[in-house]
Amino acid sequence: MSGRTHTRACPERTCLGCRERAAKSDLLRIVLSGEQCVPDHRGTLPGRGAYVHPAPVCLDSAIRRRAFPRAFRVKGPLDTAALRRDIEDSSRSAAEDGG
Ligand SMILES: [Zn+2]
Repeated sequence: MSGRTHTRACPERTCLGCRERAAKSDLLRIVLSGEQCVPDHRGTLPGRGAYVHPAPVCLDSAIRRRAFPRAFRVKGPLDTAALRRDIEDSSRSAAEDGG
């Protein structure tokens, strides 16, 4: 008997915006750089990570409920301008792909 079990569940994370659980690969990892939230597309940056769907609605609700400072255990407010631009850009090009 050499039965190896391959029942490793795919990693899930909770989106800070809509609070839904999703596969880690469906979410955008965000790390803190100074006081700036930066997107970590490759999931390689060091430090504590926060996860949201790469969608403006999820980013907005995460910002509104101050989920980022809480996730990073810092006192707000954090700079999310670059992050927002990144998410808006990628959601726009995704929409163009679909058309
Ligand atoms: Zn979401």
